[in-house]
Amino acid sequence: MSHPLLLVHGGAGNVPASSQEAHRLGCQEAAEKGGAVLADGGTAVEAVCTAVEVLEDNPIYNAGLGCALDMEGRVSLDVAVMCGQTLEAAGLAALSPFKNPVRIAQRLLHEKEVLLAGEEASRRAEALGFERLSAHALITEKAMAQWRKVVRDGECANFAGGTVGAVARDAQGFLAAATSTGGTMGKAPGRVGDSPLIGAGTFANEHCAVSATGEGEAFVRSCFAVRIADAIRYGQKPSEALLHVLMRVKDRYHGVGGAIVLTADGDPITNHTTPGMSCGWWSPDGSGSSI
Ligand code: ASP
Repeated sequence: MSHPLLLVHGGAGNVPASSQEAHRLGCQEAAEKGGAVLADGGTAVEAVCTAVEVLEDNPIYNAGLGCALDMEGRVSLDVAVMCGQTLEAAGLAALSPFKNPVRIAQRLLHEKEVLLAGEEASRRAEALGFERLSAHALITEKAMAQWRKVVRDGECANFAGGTVGAVARDAQGFLAAATSTGGTMGKAPGRVGDSPLIGAGTFANEHCAVSATGEGEAFVRSCFAVRIADAIRYGQKPSEALLHVLMRVKDRYHGVGGAIVLTADGDPITNHTTPGMSCGWWSPDGSGSSI
């Protein structure tokens, strides 16, 4: 038997002081709901999907309800899930509005395709029984106000502070990772970030599970998540591997962000090169959260 653990993030970035408590509490709730799955003997995959579903339903985060909008004010969702036991993975990119994109990715986990994009991805989700929502169903007043600031007034986008993710280790010692986002506020139509790309924003194998958040283009170009997994596999201390790769993204690829990492037998690890990153964790000994 292994020591089950679950870790979630609510995005790296600069969360305003007025939202910090809600961010922290939202992460704690998600960690506890995902943790309850592990406490019942559930799989790491089910635990990360449960935790991410809770975060997608919370309008404070940039995933599902309340997500960031593209330049034309439309919702375009990115999501991925990976199972460290089987190495199966599924991602959806530039997806139309669906209530819980992470559940679509989970449903696709055993299929041959690893990444589906755009209208065809949305049609596949519908064919599987998921309901496509109206164009405005996930758009909140707060997201619209931020969109106006970024797109109309030309303010610099606070790119993050809301992408969500989870990593978990179940009682059998298997790992999983999931990440879900609306991407960057005011992004180019059709733009896809790191979150749905296996090895960039999301990765899990038998050694570790990683969910990233930050300036997606830099995380894609640096192949972020798989670099951490390989460093750990080849013997680097996990906390050093995470710090090292985050600094490499910052210095060499000029992007900031953060990530959560869980290994097959170690403690949860988080780090970021942004002012903050909201996190929550669960273990059989208790739960907590921070920002
Ligand atoms: N990494 C996400 C993206 O670039 C954004 C974020 O983490 O906030 O789509």
